[in-house]
Amino acid sequence: MRLSAVIPVYNEEDSLRELHRELTDVAAANDYQIEIIFVDDGSKDGSWKVEQELADSDPNVNAIRFRRNFGKAAALDAGFRAARGDLVLTLDADLQDDPAEIPRFLEKLDSGLDVVSGYKQVRHDPWHKVLPSRIFNWMVSTLTGVRLHDHNCGFKCYRREIFDEVRLYGELHRFVPVLAAARGWKVGEIVVNHRARQFGQSKYGFFRIFKGFLDLLTVKFITGFGQRPQHLLGGIGLAFFAFGGLGMVILALWWVLSRIPALGLNPIHIHETAMIFYVITALLLGTQFLMVGLLAELITAQNSHGQAPYSISETSGYTKLPDTTSSDTTV
Ligand code: UDP
Ligand code: MG
Repeated sequence: MRLSAVIPVYNEEDSLRELHRELTDVAAANDYQIEIIFVDDGSKDGSWKVEQELADSDPNVNAIRFRRNFGKAAALDAGFRAARGDLVLTLDADLQDDPAEIPRFLEKLDSGLDVVSGYKQVRHDPWHKVLPSRIFNWMVSTLTGVRLHDHNCGFKCYRREIFDEVRLYGELHRFVPVLAAARGWKVGEIVVNHRARQFGQSKYGFFRIFKGFLDLLTVKFITGFGQRPQHLLGGIGLAFFAFGGLGMVILALWWVLSRIPALGLNPIHIHETAMIFYVITALLLGTQFLMVGLLAELITAQNSHGQAPYSISETSGYTKLPDTTSSDTTV
């Protein structure tokens, strides 16, 4: 079994050597063929220098450097595309994820799963990160049906083929299991040892949670209607049209009936009724939704030949740049 460890790095110079040592030890002890891929997400400290040194001294280490900070999801995506192993492991560069857990990930995968996510049951993070995270995990599990205790955990293991299908952008890295599950891959979790951060500082604060909720909406939309956005947007549009159309019919009938002397009603003027405003609004909204739906369809069609949303400035250990130009799949 060849194992690719993809490690996003943003200003983690003090942790990298120790992380490399721990990974190499685990691989040696268990006879794994391991490929370590550092993806430097525009670090401003000495991280890249350390990564280059490691890549120079160890043939199993490769490093990719972004021109600037593109975010963890982009870094992981670059690593996934470069990975050559049968299994892809992701772990944070800050030593919070313990490489000693790797054999347990592989065992769990062997039980018939395609994705195994870590669950930091005992967390070494402040409460203002843990509490929102609990709420977030509950919401994601309920809304998507992928029941994991810890969607945010950076320590995960995948079968490599998954990444031929699942592309990452924005901050959707925490939803890879959800996106994979939406395509039928089997997802599970194991409890992992979580260590306190020793060096550097966390890149995410309390506000990550708000972005997380917006991303959840996106993921729900993508997994539900990603390939046919018009089915949702056009559906809403048609509902508005039905409402507006019904209003028109009622208004017309009302106008006619109010002019039949035998009924003794007051003749109405349609433009003076409140209802006409609802009718007009509904018809306009209906048109809007249908048009936006068509645009979304157009974008979806175009995107099936997309390009990677980042730019790699240099690589170490590779004889040529990993291919980031072609992809026929969308999430
Ligand atoms: N990271 C990254 N790009 C970013 C932010 C973070 O590659 O823009 C990396 C970071 O170096 C670390 C991992 O993502 O390896 C997780 O970040 P962090 O430890 O700060 O998150 P936390 O554990 O506090 O949730
Ligand atoms: Mg961390």
